[in-house]
Amino acid sequence: MARMAAPAPTTPTTPTVTRHIACNLCEAICGLEVDVQGERIIAIRGDEQDPLSKGHICPKAVALKDLHEDPDRLRRPVKRVGTGPDATWQEITWDEAFDLVVDGLARVRQQHGSNAVAVYQGNPNVHNYGNLTHSPRFFGLLRTRHRYSATSVDQLPHHVVARWLYGHQLLIPIPDVDRTSFFLVMGANPLASNGSLMTAPDMRGRLKALKARGGRLVVIDPRRTETAAAADQHHFIRPGTDATLLLAMIQVLFAEDLVRPGRLAAFIDDVDAVRSAIARFTPEAAATVTGIAADTIRGLARDLAAAEGGVVYGRMGLSTQPHGVLCQWAIQVLNILTGQLDREGGALLTRPAMDLVAGGQMGRGDFGRWTSRVRRVPEFGGELPVATLAEDILTPSQGGQDQPIRALVTSAGNPVLSTPNGAQLDRALATLDFMVSIDFYLNETTRHAHVILPPTCAVEHDHYDLVFHHLAVRNTARYSPALLPKPPGALHDWEIYNALARRYKARFGTPAKGPLPQRLLRRAAEGLMNRLRPDQLLALGLRLGPYRLSLRRLRRDHPHGLDLGPLRPSLPGRLRTPGKRIALMPPQAGSLLAGQADALLTPPAPGLRLIGRREVRNNNSWMHNTPRLMSGKPRCTLQMHPADAAERGVADGQLVRVASRVGAVEVPVQITDAVAPGVVCLPHGFGHGRPGVRLGVATQHAGASVNDLTDDQLLDSGSGNAALNGVPVTVERVSTPTQSHAPIEAAA
Ligand code: SF4
Repeated sequence: MARMAAPAPTTPTTPTVTRHIACNLCEAICGLEVDVQGERIIAIRGDEQDPLSKGHICPKAVALKDLHEDPDRLRRPVKRVGTGPDATWQEITWDEAFDLVVDGLARVRQQHGSNAVAVYQGNPNVHNYGNLTHSPRFFGLLRTRHRYSATSVDQLPHHVVARWLYGHQLLIPIPDVDRTSFFLVMGANPLASNGSLMTAPDMRGRLKALKARGGRLVVIDPRRTETAAAADQHHFIRPGTDATLLLAMIQVLFAEDLVRPGRLAAFIDDVDAVRSAIARFTPEAAATVTGIAADTIRGLARDLAAAEGGVVYGRMGLSTQPHGVLCQWAIQVLNILTGQLDREGGALLTRPAMDLVAGGQMGRGDFGRWTSRVRRVPEFGGELPVATLAEDILTPSQGGQDQPIRALVTSAGNPVLSTPNGAQLDRALATLDFMVSIDFYLNETTRHAHVILPPTCAVEHDHYDLVFHHLAVRNTARYSPALLPKPPGALHDWEIYNALARRYKARFGTPAKGPLPQRLLRRAAEGLMNRLRPDQLLALGLRLGPYRLSLRRLRRDHPHGLDLGPLRPSLPGRLRTPGKRIALMPPQAGSLLAGQADALLTPPAPGLRLIGRREVRNNNSWMHNTPRLMSGKPRCTLQMHPADAAERGVADGQLVRVASRVGAVEVPVQITDAVAPGVVCLPHGFGHGRPGVRLGVATQHAGASVNDLTDDQLLDSGSGNAALNGVPVTVERVSTPTQSHAPIEAAA
């Protein structure tokens, strides 16, 4: 297969023009000012006039150019010829590719039923609005219950709790960082992420402003992250014990008569039920579990209660542990009982210009309508936890209607590196009858595909951030026209989905199930999707949204984005719950608390616990093929406390073998007191040493995959989210390194 050349060369006479777009590589939606000469990106700067990011960019922004020009990027559909190490890839036409895909999926469906086809959508899908508007039609036609996404290795507990308390999975209150006076951050590193489920570009500037106005930043984390290093206080906590700390803070509020919900009292229920459910969680009991002193726990609760605009915020470190839902529930309860929800400086709901929540019951986050095949874990919002995917492929049929997954569609995802027990999933993918990947990289996952359909890259299509305008610290709207033209013969993701849907529908027709109104609605929606482009659907959504915006005017009059003002109180009006009330103690939370109280009050067993880490130049698993982001010292190191290193006779830089229940990897150790004793820390997204991958830069910095250690059997019991943090591991010196970057199969 020929490698496609980078963009056409420019001549000295080609004029340079400056364009303005929003970066869609991560959640921060930074405005960019980009110099373009012909089809070549010359320079990328922050857009000073963007109302949200005000000129901020991070080092990853240059990756937009690198991704566009990456010689490893696939630019034509390819099919795999042969298997294993002898496999080669052959370029084919779009028509041939679509036929192969529909034939492959249809064959599996006809032989094994529609649930034998599965879908996995990776994180970049959510940053690409054409994908969000047009993929549901094709995936709906597959009629499978086996749908998965990166949500269940990241933020599922947030959505579950938002659904319980506020009635919709996207009603997630956002810290009002720009006005808060007390910001308690747990299991998050916003200085590296620029906010996650809290779109907040230039977090460094925002935290400086917080301190300048006399506010305080407190961080609880097993690692002294960049954010913790900048905080007024940082407390190490034992991995996986955050729920116990948060429940003890609630207990202090009741014990010291600090419960003051203020105007929220008019529409909250179950305060007494919360009081009795958490009575055992005294600060003294929590101190023995968390490692944080009882007086510190009391101080945190008092500071939150006293703050004129304060907020507790917990992110991925809290979601990806066995008590993820309880953590996120307790955070909401703390913010509510102290009256910090829905007030300036506290936690507020963003009011997006295209409001996905206002569109009725669709997508609100129903749950428990079906379960995974083998472990019987319930779905949420139409998706099953991805930690169950491998076993639902590998476990043979138990008879009757039960069928293993035999085909998979992946879209912009690399679950072999990003989901727990990646090595097991790697083996499972190799057994599939058919797999197609909509992706422009031949990576650790897509190498198993029979066909790869590469869409355009970020600078070749227009963009409006449909999701993260719902989660931003300020109300803004920004539409970005495509920076560069679509290359001849290329297709956008949404065009790929439309083509697949048309062909698949011709084969199987539209599902005839459901009541007549639902069928008519579905048919009307399909008709719209068939005819309308993403920007036309966006125009409709903006016009129907709370600001009645015109896309044409937004584009013409506000090329740097439109400022729609700070977050404002909006409750109870925006609640989607019965009677617009908040039940603080949903039955599911009550059962979880009752069932897990003993475990939550038991100190963790001795031994090392593995946690992940995010760095500013990493974005999950897919930005390791850009040389500028990979330059400098190797980043895939195991951070370990000096006392733990000394106990094992390990010196800084030495190779160690890290082993868990599911596998082992070898990595260099980095001895540092930035991690607590008993904690080791490995970044995620590495592990590019598997054969058959076409990522020239990434394979030179292969590293080890943290998900060859994380355990697919460890889930958050309330949501099914993977418990990636706090995994028990052993670490020992390596005298003779294994001659491979692949995971080591032997379990500990
Ligand atoms: S913080 Fe995110 S959105 Fe902003 S420039 Fe970096 S990658 Fe792009």
